[in-house]
Amino acid sequence: MNVLERELHYPLGDTLPAPGTSIELAPGVRWLRMALPFALDHINLWLLRDQIDGQDGWTVVDCCIARDESRAQWEQIFSGELQGLPVLRVIVTHMHPDHIGLAHWLCARWSTPERECPLLISATDYHLARIGSAGVNGFGGDSAAAFFAAHGLIDPVSIEKIRQRAGYYHSLVPDLPRSFQRLMDGDSLQIGDQAWRCISGYGHAPEHISLYCEQLNLLIGGDMMLPRISTNVSVFDMEPEANPLRLFLDSIDKFKALPADTLTLPSHGKPFTGLHRRIEQLHAHHRDRLAEVLQACTEKPCSAADILPVLFKRQLDLHQTTFAMGESIAHLHALWLAGRLHRQRDPQGIYRFSPA
Ligand SMILES: [Zn+2]
Repeated sequence: MNVLERELHYPLGDTLPAPGTSIELAPGVRWLRMALPFALDHINLWLLRDQIDGQDGWTVVDCCIARDESRAQWEQIFSGELQGLPVLRVIVTHMHPDHIGLAHWLCARWSTPERECPLLISATDYHLARIGSAGVNGFGGDSAAAFFAAHGLIDPVSIEKIRQRAGYYHSLVPDLPRSFQRLMDGDSLQIGDQAWRCISGYGHAPEHISLYCEQLNLLIGGDMMLPRISTNVSVFDMEPEANPLRLFLDSIDKFKALPADTLTLPSHGKPFTGLHRRIEQLHAHHRDRLAEVLQACTEKPCSAADILPVLFKRQLDLHQTTFAMGESIAHLHALWLAGRLHRQRDPQGIYRFSPA
């Protein structure tokens, strides 16, 4: 546990749900956890006891990536943890593969001729996920390679690997339901005996939806409020002039309106209290990073690639480098779009940032 984590509180200690099982956190709210084959090695998913048109069942929040291991684990959950009741609907917080990968499978698995099991998600994330899952021209590829090259990642091996990753999203999210129910900021969802309010968040995904239940004082934070790691905030080739760090920091401030003792259920890590402290920690974290980036650009005009060792003290593999480049550009853009840095292309066509 790092020094910042000690300022938070984990009411369940080190208890984690074993694979294929779940832990009840509040009446009708259950926590399960599935393995991921990435550096980020797990995701938390939630089961909410529900009733729709007199039919008892469950709402699932988030899905895990599409692969046999996760489907097998879901089957264990279905047979052991649902009290013999069906899944009635699937809520997805945002379009990243670990959250939406199995949405298609879950909705199909639980739809019957009498009753459809729908997907609930923001419209922005649904549509982008549809594009990404549609095939190898979804995201990345040539356009991502050109974008990273313009930000100084010119090593030919990395650029070629990025070019070849065009089918990556599709491999983890092979399909999506053909229709969805739209979630928007401020919407109230009646789930079983409880009302849950949708809170939109920006900067990590196009339109991330967190859910807050006042009766239970629970926040399903998704990836917008993580206890240990800072949420990935990246600029991508599809929106090359974006300012996601500004959006992220503005978005997390919305959680300040929730009670200080709210139990936050994050997508990665353990349920925690100390929400207000965590918001302050994240502001401090990015304030420090921005100061370091500004300092580096004061010493010499820097590209995003030049900033990588400033932001990331460890060695990065290619997968991590693409994330890191996105984060590096996000920090430069926050300063540039606030008027602190000036942006110019050098004779090689690489964007370099210097004090404004
Ligand atoms: Zn995410």
